[in-house]
Amino acid sequence: MARTPLMAGNWKLNLNHVEATGLVQKLAWTLKDFRYDQTKSEAAVIVPFTDLRSVQTIIEGDKLPLFWGAQDVSVHASGAFTGEIAADMLAKLNCSYVVVGHSERREYHGETDALIGQKAKVVFDAGMTPIICCGEVLEIRKAGTHVEYVLGQIKECLAPLTAEQVAAAVIAYEPVWAIGTGEVATPQDAQEVCGAIRGYVAEAFGEATAEAVRIQYGGSVKANNVVEIMGQPDVDGALVGGASLNADEFAKIVMFYAAGA
Ligand code: PEP
Repeated sequence: MARTPLMAGNWKLNLNHVEATGLVQKLAWTLKDFRYDQTKSEAAVIVPFTDLRSVQTIIEGDKLPLFWGAQDVSVHASGAFTGEIAADMLAKLNCSYVVVGHSERREYHGETDALIGQKAKVVFDAGMTPIICCGEVLEIRKAGTHVEYVLGQIKECLAPLTAEQVAAAVIAYEPVWAIGTGEVATPQDAQEVCGAIRGYVAEAFGEATAEAVRIQYGGSVKANNVVEIMGQPDVDGALVGGASLNADEFAKIVMFYAAGA
């Protein structure tokens, strides 16, 4: 089964709703200029909560070839949880994707694999797709235990999900040492872990599920390294931070398939 690559731009804590509208417009014009073919790769913007309504309005209103999503979600549906945002609220804004378990949430907010698994479940229950992040810190990479470490994360994050949900999920392998550092894992490093994740999914949920699940690489992806990374058999897309804030750069990443054409 062919997996459509997903190129998702994680804006993190950048751009207010006015700036967001500008970047989405610029990205759409650039993709149009480059003759973007949505059947060859999906493009999504993962924006701050306060930008979602404006981004939704412009993408739907102008029928732009973009998906949008949020950077986090609460496990709670409603109630006394000040500052949190429920999955149903995001679904009401027609979000397609919600990132769960980004390494910055793990590091600064103490998010655990068990919590991230619950978040992935509430995202599915609300009719959206989670982008479930995993990845090792530098010490673990240096110790050479990164594959087993990441598989341990994935095992717990996927535990609350059915095989059908895992097949529809997106998993983002993001070595923490490569995020925002300019330090990129080699394409072979990315393949090693993405391939191991698919192998684990096959064992735990069956071959058909493993064939269907999309696995992204993330960590200092740029226009000048995306083609080699996307050339790996088990890499089905990229989660892009810094480079997604520049329309021209992100459009080139989205259109990795046309490089050299
Ligand atoms: C990220 O935030 O998920 C990320 C991969 O960031 P960057 O591309 O800037 O390394």
